[in-house]
Amino acid sequence: KGIRVAIDGPAAAGKSTVAKIVAEKSSFIYIDTGAMYRALTWKVLQNRISPEDSQSIVDLLAKTDIDLEQGKSGQRVRVDGDDVTEAIRTEQVTGSVSHIAKHPNVREQMVQRQRKLANKHDIVMDGRDIGTHVIPNAEVKVFLKASVEERARRRYDENMQKGLTTDFETLKNEIEERDRIDSNRETAPLVKADDAIALDTTDLTIDDVASSILEKVNQ
Ligand code: C5P
Repeated sequence: KGIRVAIDGPAAAGKSTVAKIVAEKSSFIYIDTGAMYRALTWKVLQNRISPEDSQSIVDLLAKTDIDLEQGKSGQRVRVDGDDVTEAIRTEQVTGSVSHIAKHPNVREQMVQRQRKLANKHDIVMDGRDIGTHVIPNAEVKVFLKASVEERARRRYDENMQKGLTTDFETLKNEIEERDRIDSNRETAPLVKADDAIALDTTDLTIDDVASSILEKVNQ
C-alpha cells in the first residue's frame, strides 16, 4: 500500500503550489481534483448545458475522458484528448465550477475516479473533500488556511505574472463566493477533517509549508 497525502482547504490557499512541491520532492504523483471539476465545467459550458441540469451533467461526465498528465513544464489537463490546461482557468470556468461541483450525483462519479487514481501510486491529492471523503484513511492529512485578503493577494500576484490584470476586490469576491458555495453544499462540503493537521499559511512561505508537510510524510 502506498503513501497518500491529502491536502484540503479553501480557494487559493496555496494547495496546488504546495502539493506540487511535496509530490516532486517525494517522487509521488500529484492529482489536482479541482482540475477535474474544472475540466468537466469546461465541457459543460462548451455543450451549453445549464450548470443546474445535474442529470445532463452526469450523463456528460460518464462519456468524458479526463486526463491529468505530468509534463516537463508542469501538469497538463486533457478532456477527450484536447489540451484544456489554460482553458479551465478562465473566469467563466472559475465562476461556474462550484455550481457544477455541488451536485451529489456528479460528485459521486468524480470521487470514484479519484479513488481509482489514489490506489495506483504514492500520491499527493488536493481538493476540498479529500481527507473527509475521497481518502479518509490517507496517511497524511493537511488542511491549509489563510486569510481571504492574503489569498486574494496571492491570486492577484499570480495573475500579474501571467500578464493578466484583474481587480483585487473582484478576485476577493470570487474567492469568497466559491468558498461559500463549497462550504454550504449538502454533499462533502468544504470542512477540515477532525484528524487533519491545520496549517495557517497567512504568514508562512510556500517552502515552510512544503517542508512541514514533507516532515510528516517522512515520519
Ligand atoms: O482547487 P480549485 O480551486 O481549482 O477547484 C475548483 C472548484 O472545484 C472548487 O471551488 C470546488 O467547487 C470544486 N472542487 C470540489 N471538490 C474538490 C476539488 C474541487 O468540489 N475535491
